[in-house]
Amino acid sequence: MNTQFPHERILMGPGPSPVPQRVLRALAGPTLGHLDPQYLAIMDETCEMLRQVMQTRNPLTFPVSGTGMAGMECIASNLVEPGDEVIVCVQGVFGGRMKDVMERCGATVHVVEAPWGETIPHERIAEALDRNPRATLVGIVHAETSTGAHQPLEGLAGIVHAKGAMLVVDAVTSLGGHELRVDDWGIDAIYSGTQKCLSCPPGLSPVSFGERALARLDARKRKPQSWYLDVTMLRKYYLSGGGAGGGARVYHHTAPINMTYALREALAIVLEEGLDARIARHAAAHQRLRAGLERMGLRYIPSRSLHTLNCIAIPEGADDAGTRRRLLEEYGIEIGAGLGVMAGKAWRIGLMGHGATVRNVDLVLAALASVLAR
Ligand SMILES: *Cc1c(COP(=O)(O)O)cnc(C)c1O
Repeated sequence: MNTQFPHERILMGPGPSPVPQRVLRALAGPTLGHLDPQYLAIMDETCEMLRQVMQTRNPLTFPVSGTGMAGMECIASNLVEPGDEVIVCVQGVFGGRMKDVMERCGATVHVVEAPWGETIPHERIAEALDRNPRATLVGIVHAETSTGAHQPLEGLAGIVHAKGAMLVVDAVTSLGGHELRVDDWGIDAIYSGTQKCLSCPPGLSPVSFGERALARLDARKRKPQSWYLDVTMLRKYYLSGGGAGGGARVYHHTAPINMTYALREALAIVLEEGLDARIARHAAAHQRLRAGLERMGLRYIPSRSLHTLNCIAIPEGADDAGTRRRLLEEYGIEIGAGLGVMAGKAWRIGLMGHGATVRNVDLVLAALASVLAR
């Protein structure tokens, strides 16, 4: 193994996704100080582009320093206080993690569960809100990467808001690949990641907080346990004027300068392509992959599959680890293993961002056919 110059791979797993040269070049820009006016202008531009990609006007929209899990922790530690009751929808690994994170923030978590591969009907969430009138929020994963299930969100906020609760969404594997309208869908707080459908290296977690979430922040009785992820301090750095009536930017932690360049470039690529065209490209790649896999006799596990993550049952008699190893060694293709209860039972093929192409689809189909034939 050459540890100095690793081979390039064709990344078709659950993330990271392939990173375009433009983004890698941006990453190599000159490192600036985190209060340099040049850098602050780049940060402002990045946050504005994030608002466009998230389809929100929320002023408090910025990239948390850390991967998607940092975004999850940021939202939980700011919006949950010890003693709160919350509802979390669990349909796979990431819903389960959200439950764990909210419990660590001191919440009593009421779970709405669905079998792996299924999504949760909105009526079941309405029932949970009726049963638990003190619930302050509903947390749900839009794209459950562990099962490939695509959770419908449109219309859900109305049900949640009617009970005085907030809607919190994990959009790590949907932002930039699936339709996602933060304002139109009434989402109150959302987090995502850079290395899935935005095709940027891992390292930042875009988050956005709406008005209800800000009101919840203001009503907190005590500070969030997490200093690093405390949004009331972070916003004094990330937003010019602190988002609340003026004042200079205040140092909180050293922003990951070069990662911001990369995210800015990745978002520029998304906006140049156009959100609708990008979503259509992901849909077309998924349909082409699905048709090919089903021709080979392979079966999708979720009933409502994501376009960005294709979770298929490992065919009987096939060698799980051996097949993935051959794809990697002979073709340079990475696909994902099953996660959680799907370990050993599923393969996960990602079509995310830069990787959602006809070329990649046909390549993985041919490579998989060849390996399975042996
Ligand atoms: C990948 C992922 C995460 C975690 O993101 P990291 O970048 O690995 O921290 C959270 N939620 C979902 C749905 C994911 O797919």
